[in-house]
Amino acid sequence: MSATVLSGKELGAAVRAEATAAAAELAASGTPPKLAVVVATADESSAWYVRSIARSAGKAGIDCEIVDLGAEATAEQIGDRLAALSADASVHGIILQTPLPAGAALEDLASAIAFEKDVDGANPLSLGRLAAGLPAFAPATAEAVVALLDHHKVELTGRHVAVVGRSTVVGKPAAHLLLDKNATVTVCHSRTRDLAAVTSAADVVVAAVGRPGLITAAHVRPGAVVVDVGTNPTADGGLVGDVDPSVTDRAGALTPVPGGVGPVTTALLLQHTVKAAQAARLR
Ligand code: NAP
Repeated sequence: MSATVLSGKELGAAVRAEATAAAAELAASGTPPKLAVVVATADESSAWYVRSIARSAGKAGIDCEIVDLGAEATAEQIGDRLAALSADASVHGIILQTPLPAGAALEDLASAIAFEKDVDGANPLSLGRLAAGLPAFAPATAEAVVALLDHHKVELTGRHVAVVGRSTVVGKPAAHLLLDKNATVTVCHSRTRDLAAVTSAADVVVAAVGRPGLITAAHVRPGAVVVDVGTNPTADGGLVGDVDPSVTDRAGALTPVPGGVGPVTTALLLQHTVKAAQAARLR
């Protein structure tokens, strides 16, 4: 039997609709929401992603400024721009797009993003607060994983979730959010011994690696739920996840790529931006 498709389109549309209404209200009250995306790369898939954020923001009535510093930008230039945007009262959300030029590390630079404008949870302060169970913006992709499972009524309490990938952008924050949902979480990475043994013991597998086909039927228990976070560009201009097509006949439910985690991630970035603008209006 083929796995149930856990689409992100419906949830993405609902979150976008809420953000659009909130953005209109903010604009009417004199605080038009604004997102700034700082880019310092010539990477084509990154450019595609940034354009899609700008398009979604525009449709939702959120001003989106793409601050392109060029692939030759230094860490100092990027840090200075992040600090300037953090001090600019007209900007409510700031995203630092990866990859970054050699010599510029996200972990270092993201500290220059004001915590209250850190709508993609990149500042280490946000991750620390998330880990401590305190209010903070979670990285949108990690939040999208949990929101999508929630939307499709996948029970997490007491269930074993294997997260494959431990980046600060996806794997680690997703693990914290899943713990908050009372799941029993195992985090796997490139040094995990016998990945298939760990993941096939799990009720839910979250694949966040960036390697097409890494998760095969042998990695999945029959009937398990699989969330595919991977976005790997194909030679023909398409997109595939980390999950091999063989999983479709083994899993109980599976998120598609594209159309799964992606649309929810973008919608949550918009939601975070209007929340940041709402908080700024009250200050
Ligand atoms: P990343 O920083 O490169 O991290 C990849 C993780 O996978 C690392 O923790 C790495 O382990 C682990 N890994 C690598 N090879 C492995 C293997 N053979 N077995 C088990 N684990 C392995 O990537 P990322 O930024 O987290 O992104 C992961 C994927 O999500 C990418 O495809 C990215 O494009 C996608 N993504 C999607 C969205 C969305 O909105 N849908 C947003 C962001 C990212 P080590 O730590 O040991 O190196």
